Amino acid sequence: MHPAEKYNSIRRIIFSGVHKHGFDEALKWLESTYRSQLDPKHYRGLKAELAFYRGYGKELQLTVAGDMGEHADFSGLYQGQICRFDVTTNLAYKDFSTYEPFMGEGPRYKIALLNQSSFEVIDVLDLAFKPCTDCGGHLIPCVALLGQNYNRHGEAQWSNDQLLMDVCTGCQRYFERNRFTTTGMLSPQEVFDSLDDNEDSASAITALQDHVLNAYKYFRPEADANLMALAEHSYNVTERDGGGYWAFRMVFKNKAVAAELPDEIECPHEV
Ligand SMILES: [Zn+2]
Ligand SMILES: [Zn+2]
Repeated sequence: MHPAEKYNSIRRIIFSGVHKHGFDEALKWLESTYRSQLDPKHYRGLKAELAFYRGYGKELQLTVAGDMGEHADFSGLYQGQICRFDVTTNLAYKDFSTYEPFMGEGPRYKIALLNQSSFEVIDVLDLAFKPCTDCGGHLIPCVALLGQNYNRHGEAQWSNDQLLMDVCTGCQRYFERNRFTTTGMLSPQEVFDSLDDNEDSASAITALQDHVLNAYKYFRPEADANLMALAEHSYNVTERDGGGYWAFRMVFKNKAVAAELPDEIECPHEV
């Protein structure tokens, strides 16, 4: 049997023991029969899961998750939200990228970290994104694809700037971090303007999406390994006389954080 299957089947047996005979009995089985069949890391992991379930099962309305493939040991209710919990004894083993593919679908991820005998609940976003010093929200790296550069004589420079910024999920402000200058990385509006007028709207949308996805693939390693979104700098008309405001408008959001990010953030005309 594959070690993961072995672990899953022992885990199933132990938790069904808990449900039928209680924690003390199940822990006895674990020690007497199953401990020798588990490596130390999995044994510690299962003990931690049992301790979490025992200590917080009622309070957090925990349900034992059946499938370990999604990095969730339990589901439950935390601060009024349905969450998935992954139990661990060491945060150093935990990496945002292993949760990322499963995020955006289903409930949020929390990590239950066992310290001595108590648990600390940590949001998975904390693994990758620093807290905002003003509001405590998460700072999410985002790149704005700006329009073509012009010099002070109004001559096109055939280059575009891109702005790396952190967008706060709490106060919804942005903090500039870095600026890139590239050739050929057009803004979404410039891509749209360059499309053939005969092109139907479906293929225009596909062309824009391709451009944005390619830009994301390029900038994620280049700008920040945890880059999560792309934006454009655009003017939004709100008044009949043309009055409005400038904003960074999101053109791509990684689904792992899409629900946390604003759709746009007001900003100056000059950025
Ligand atoms: Zn786990
Ligand atoms: Zn903030």
